[in-house]
Amino acid sequence: MKLLPQGILPYALDLLFPPRCASCKRGGHIICPPCIASITAPTLPRCLHCQAQLTPTGVCKHCLSHPLALSGVRAVGIYEGPLRACIHSLKYKGNQRIAEFLGLLLANIYLGQHLQADVLIPVPLHSERHRQRGYNQSALLARVCSAHTGIPQREDILIRSRPTPPQVGSGIQARRHNVSGAFLCTPAFTGGRLTRQRIIIIDDVCTTGATLEACAAPLFAAGARSVWGLVLARPGSGF
Ligand SMILES: [Zn+2]
Ligand SMILES: [Zn+2]
Repeated sequence: MKLLPQGILPYALDLLFPPRCASCKRGGHIICPPCIASITAPTLPRCLHCQAQLTPTGVCKHCLSHPLALSGVRAVGIYEGPLRACIHSLKYKGNQRIAEFLGLLLANIYLGQHLQADVLIPVPLHSERHRQRGYNQSALLARVCSAHTGIPQREDILIRSRPTPPQVGSGIQARRHNVSGAFLCTPAFTGGRLTRQRIIIIDDVCTTGATLEACAAPLFAAGARSVWGLVLARPGSGF
């Protein structure tokens, strides 16, 4: 059988498997223009440090009681509607093509908010989870974000040293405990190569920030100057 030239392959796949909007399921696009238009930035008032929802007193309860051990968090939007549907499609339905669109959203936040980084690092999956899913969704996002921003992304700096139970539904203290110490710097990067480096950790969703904090701890210990979280979505309320 003659193989198709590589440039043709995506079009052939589109013909064989016509794209459907990951959110509203209309045919023709992996995400349709009306659904794209409905993805908007978190509306104010949001905490300047972590973009969590503010309480009526104007104070973010996390940053008041236990500030995140992170330089800051920035998100594309709220975890709802089409953005939530796209993330769900990427994580649980094997829709790797949607990473092109979602990674571009991350790049737009990086460029639009004038974030500064020397390197992007995706939140690592434990090898077992990686095998089950077949890919690390955060790494797909980081690769696309890297291509659009020109900031290198590295998947060899941070590893997940032990599997952690899913964070879904846990409270903030349980989540912190759940992931504390779960991430390590690889030996090649603990000897000074990260000194003064500005690092951005890429993930799909940041709920309490516990996972991003657990990633940041070994990076700060290895000398990083700043560690930001750049994610697709933050919860609308409740956290
Ligand atoms: Zn749609
Ligand atoms: Zn905050």
